[in-house]
Amino acid sequence: MKLKSIERFPFEIQKSLRKFQFVSDPVITEYKPLIGQSIPDLESFAESLGEKPFRGRQLFDWIYRQQVDDFSVMTDLSIPFREKLTNVPIHPLKMITGDVSVSKQTRKILFELLDGKLVEAVLMIEGNRITVCLSTQVGCAVDCDFCATAKMGFIKNLTAGEIVDQFLQLQKMSSEKITNVVFMGMGEPFLNYKNTIAAADLLHQPKGINMAAWRITISTAGIVPKIRQFAEEEQPYKLAVSLNGSTHEQRLKTMPITQTHTFSNLINASKDYAYNSRNRITFEYVLMDGINDEPQDAERLIRLLGSIECKLNMIPYNEIGGVYNRPSDERIEAFMEPLKRAPFPVTVRWSKGTDIDAGCGQLVTSST
Ligand code: SAH
Repeated sequence: MKLKSIERFPFEIQKSLRKFQFVSDPVITEYKPLIGQSIPDLESFAESLGEKPFRGRQLFDWIYRQQVDDFSVMTDLSIPFREKLTNVPIHPLKMITGDVSVSKQTRKILFELLDGKLVEAVLMIEGNRITVCLSTQVGCAVDCDFCATAKMGFIKNLTAGEIVDQFLQLQKMSSEKITNVVFMGMGEPFLNYKNTIAAADLLHQPKGINMAAWRITISTAGIVPKIRQFAEEEQPYKLAVSLNGSTHEQRLKTMPITQTHTFSNLINASKDYAYNSRNRITFEYVLMDGINDEPQDAERLIRLLGSIECKLNMIPYNEIGGVYNRPSDERIEAFMEPLKRAPFPVTVRWSKGTDIDAGCGQLVTSST
């Protein structure tokens, strides 16, 4: 890891980043990195090295609960076992660089995968709430017109390990404990469903990271069959749906996925999920000037979502250099006016870290 790459951080953050210097560069060996493996995976792995399965459980505890990534510290493992582990990589990701917002409340970190591809993750501090925003894919296939990640096209799915390692490395650089996880970084989590759920399960696993399920939110652009699967499997995690329009035609203009998964199918699947799971669903709505920000859109949202146990989260559009604009404060206020009478809570999320392109929809990477 080059020191040069972290010089953009203010000193105190550089200091915490330097702690990272002992994280060895991931090496390609015959072994899979340990981060990403479940308890049964690590039990079998220990057995494959001629050890008892409980050694695998010990490794799980060190990696996920104690969050130690140095075998020499794992003193309850026998020395011969630790020797066998010498060439086993722990991290599937290498931290490359980071940016910190002027407010110092948001940090965006760039990671490199073993194959050189790049992904970003964001850490946000809001009082006692420390949220990380994780990526699930390199690029994205969904092609929402207002999102920077879409411009990359789809490159690849991340493994569960590559998703969880974003969390573990961000946790290591944060002096405070991360309290919330949102799968709202690069990619469409429900087009990488299996690995996303496996990652959420690893974050939630009580013997490991032990993050409460209600603190983990998965956000989808509206892959209807996967919303239904998520409901049928009774997944304990919170669901957010990026609605971004108040009619089929309007949503279709900015989100071509609406062609495949229609507006009414999306609303019905969301309604069924909220009803059957008794979990409140979050709808996200990116406000774009002259596109979906008329007070009559707000009225339609009330009619559309009024019977659903939900929360509506308005996100004023973040600049990505395209054709869209953030509405003026006056327009946002006029839009919010009818929503004061909504039978569900409505919040406005002013994205954090837009000065470092770490706001919603601003994450984009290119490998050289
Ligand atoms: N693919 C998933 C998760 C990633 S996007 C999804 O669509 O939900 C996370 C959130 O950022 C979504 O609600 C999306 O609508 C929003 N978003 C995308 N581009 C944005 C932009 N330029 N400004 C503000 N929000 C944006």
